[in-house]
Amino acid sequence: MDIIIKHTPGEWTMNEMSGSSIDICGDNVWIGCIHGDHCVSGERATTGFPGNKEAVANARLVSASPELLKICEEAIDRCKCKDKDVVMPPCEFCENANNLICKIIGAKT
Ligand SMILES: [Zn+2]
Repeated sequence: MDIIIKHTPGEWTMNEMSGSSIDICGDNVWIGCIHGDHCVSGERATTGFPGNKEAVANARLVSASPELLKICEEAIDRCKCKDKDVVMPPCEFCENANNLICKIIGAKT
């Protein structure tokens, strides 16, 4: 599967939390901002924002997204369900991974 990349290419990095937010950057552009809530304890508050510990976890997840997408694509390409001589439908992992990739890139399944 060759994905037509529309997202900001390259490694995405997360900055240190500044105030109650964490910037996500890549390819010399600002991609987004993950919000925390100034919670000293780091736990989720009742203000509609995650606590700062949760915000850091969210920022890690978002900043790893391009790598996750690439690994998903590679896992599908290497899956043994494609090794068979007979053309078979993709295995459950490949089907789920393909659906996830379509969701990420905005393609229809
Ligand atoms: Zn498979």
